[in-house]
Amino acid sequence: MSELLWKSAKELSEALSNKEVSAVELAQAMLARADEVDPKIHAFLKRTDEIALEQAKAADERRARGETSSAFDGVPVAYKDIFCTKGVTTTMGSKILETFVPPYSATVVERCEAAGLTMLGKLNLDEFAMGSSTEWSAYGPTKNPWDLERVPGGSSGGPPALIMSGGVPWGWGTDTGGSVRQPAALCGCVGVKPTYGLVSRYGIIAFASSLDQAGPFARTVEDAAILLMLAAGHDPMDATSIPQEVPNYLDGIDAGIQGMKIGIVKEFTDTEGLQPGVKQRVDEAYTRLERLGAELVEISLPSFQYAISAYYLVAPAEASSNLARYDGVRYALRSDEGTDIVKMTSRTRDEGFGPEVKRRIMLGTYALSAGYYDAYYGKAQKTRSLIIKELDAAYEKVDLIVSPSSPDTAFKFGAKTADPLSMYLSDIFTVPVNMAGNAGISIPCGLSPDDNLPVGLQIIAKSLDEKTMFRAAHAFEQDLGFASDPGMRPQI
Ligand code: GLN
Repeated sequence: MSELLWKSAKELSEALSNKEVSAVELAQAMLARADEVDPKIHAFLKRTDEIALEQAKAADERRARGETSSAFDGVPVAYKDIFCTKGVTTTMGSKILETFVPPYSATVVERCEAAGLTMLGKLNLDEFAMGSSTEWSAYGPTKNPWDLERVPGGSSGGPPALIMSGGVPWGWGTDTGGSVRQPAALCGCVGVKPTYGLVSRYGIIAFASSLDQAGPFARTVEDAAILLMLAAGHDPMDATSIPQEVPNYLDGIDAGIQGMKIGIVKEFTDTEGLQPGVKQRVDEAYTRLERLGAELVEISLPSFQYAISAYYLVAPAEASSNLARYDGVRYALRSDEGTDIVKMTSRTRDEGFGPEVKRRIMLGTYALSAGYYDAYYGKAQKTRSLIIKELDAAYEKVDLIVSPSSPDTAFKFGAKTADPLSMYLSDIFTVPVNMAGNAGISIPCGLSPDDNLPVGLQIIAKSLDEKTMFRAAHAFEQDLGFASDPGMRPQI
């Protein structure tokens, strides 16, 4: 069974259809792998063994009748614990939602279920998806399978850690400022931030609604594209969902990148804090793209320097409003202390929220307060418009833009928790993409010569041009051979 653990979902789909393995056997093998690795990495907040086995049994019965729900009927999946799952606790990594059991499932979960995917469980994250290391999870951090003394990145640290431990072929996270791409980079797998509005946000607990977007993790670009296709597309339950057909991203994915124009951002070349080993591997990646036939073009996007500052006003502002609903009345935690409603609410929020969430609420309410609104929130929105404008102009000249995904490789626990600003800078390369609503992907581009840890290359595409992005990412992946090399896996 162990050889199944590292197969792609696409290969598992073939194994299922050739009857080399059953869905129940697959679920069992992956749950047994979780028994082995999860005590070390702590990727799961909740395992759903019973549901997985029940769904797998149903998948096998369908297949026996010749009635599969999709080509991936019976392939396991796992979700960041931000996706509502009907009847299964959804904690958001927070004490305030410790006992919250959603009465419905997120559209992403429903669509994956409709395709026959079996749910192994709910995975760890920074509390309310605020962070870059999972160290802010109220339930303890996830560990990086490449080095258990290091973070997996965040906020969606659980899915890539499990995927790179051979515990599941693919999974779902969310990316508000980099939370899929940065942990994918730090764990050595693929992570996608789709165009804003491509995947429904219905049933995903809100952090910053104008930036939040669900995104797939996988070990191959093709798998990430497939998982995205299974859930993407218009959903009337989300007013920001784009009413447009989702193209087949696999069509022409092998076409290569001959003649493509790829932009390199001038303002990113001397980013402070960019590790030499990361810079080296990313520079090599640019050369590889050139060798594969792309034309590299230097572009200037001056507004990118202000993206982090603007993001840390817009995201906390929206968060402070979204998190107002945790009042001790409507959801989960309610403090026993407090003699009236105001005191009860205030005690509940004090007991239920952790330090980073409280910091964001304070930042956000301050940025929105009457006397400061124009100076902070208003200014940040103007910066956001500028980022969009400059990117639109860049796409007149180039098809795609490349950069590192993260300035550093996986860092040690505790390295950044005492200094919020250094943690915030983890997203320096990813945040502009969310601010503009564009698409982005992180793919492995080797191990850093500094510390033998994975480095991620980010490829950015204009809104709804995921197809070109996947095509380039796939060409790079096939040429590098990282994903298909058993030597390029953590020894766990
Ligand atoms: N690390 C960023 C933050 O803390 C992004 C988080 C995310 O994308 N959910 O806000």
